[in-house]
Amino acid sequence: MGDNKCKDGNSTLLHGKYELGRLLGHGTFAKVYHARNLKSGKSVAMKVVGKEKVIKVGMMEQIKREISVMKMVQHPNIVELHEVMASKSKIYFAMELVRGGELFSRIAKGRLREDVARVYFQQLISAIDFCHSRGVYHRDLKPENLLLDEEGNLKVTDFGLSAFTEHLKQDGLLHTTCGTPAYVAPEVIGKKGYDGAKADLWSCGVILYVLLAGFLPFQDDNIVAMYRKIYRGDFKCPPWFSSEARRLITKLLDPNPMTRITIAKIMDSSWFKKSAPKSILTKEEQEFQEYEKSPFKQSETLNAFHIISLSEG
Ligand code: ATP
Repeated sequence: MGDNKCKDGNSTLLHGKYELGRLLGHGTFAKVYHARNLKSGKSVAMKVVGKEKVIKVGMMEQIKREISVMKMVQHPNIVELHEVMASKSKIYFAMELVRGGELFSRIAKGRLREDVARVYFQQLISAIDFCHSRGVYHRDLKPENLLLDEEGNLKVTDFGLSAFTEHLKQDGLLHTTCGTPAYVAPEVIGKKGYDGAKADLWSCGVILYVLLAGFLPFQDDNIVAMYRKIYRGDFKCPPWFSSEARRLITKLLDPNPMTRITIAKIMDSSWFKKSAPKSILTKEEQEFQEYEKSPFKQSETLNAFHIISLSEG
């Protein structure tokens, strides 16, 4: 049992501490499983990263950074890292289980009402403000990295590309070009160095636009043409955006990082300060939440742990 993982009946035990369940999702380097802490009975999300794959592409430093950052940033709108375990071939992240899926899937069903989008944006800015106050820059903010819990609260995840203040070069700027093209700030593409906080705020601007519009502000089949639009801040707000939302988005998607709006000013803007609607969950989501809490669902979940087995992927 060199890998600290064994089969017990039909379930898979990890370090004798967690029972692994179904696959929740996967990314480029990781698979994420539902797991249960045998002692506390609590469910967690277990992210499993293969060491060989990570070493092969020289990403070990990035994984170590993700661990350090997640330990530092404990906030209600950031996925919590409970503990990290390792075996000969794998690294295991036991994380807070977030059951509502990605914000991305919610937008895929259609654009959001402005009052609902505001709640998500307020939570996103609260999390990013906290990160920046700790000298952490996320650098890959996009709806795929924003999970929703059962109450509809937003949780930022995937700090794999994040940077610390210590990564600043002598000019006080970050120099690694990273992120996802449609969400990346012009100065990041520009390769002359950038302020991580301002670059994160640009991505928040793209996210807010996507929530309200249901599509991206900067799009083109040709990546060079898309970058040109990003450089120029060349986008149009659809007619259904309120004038206050337009004003805020225009200040966030300011191609000049020096004049781009700051977090303090976002928080002080009239659009941001409006109060929240009674519920941000759709009718279907409210019904699903009731079902999840029902005794029927709970017994079903326990059974699921015993019929699912996991083969080392
Ligand atoms: P990427 O390729 O974007 O770097 P990754 O390999 O780091 O991704 P994650 O994005 O962290 O992997 O996770 C993959 C998927 O697993 C997510 O898209 C999400 O659906 C699911 N997932 C991740 N963390 C959790 C969590 N805490 N609770 C529930 N599901 C999660």
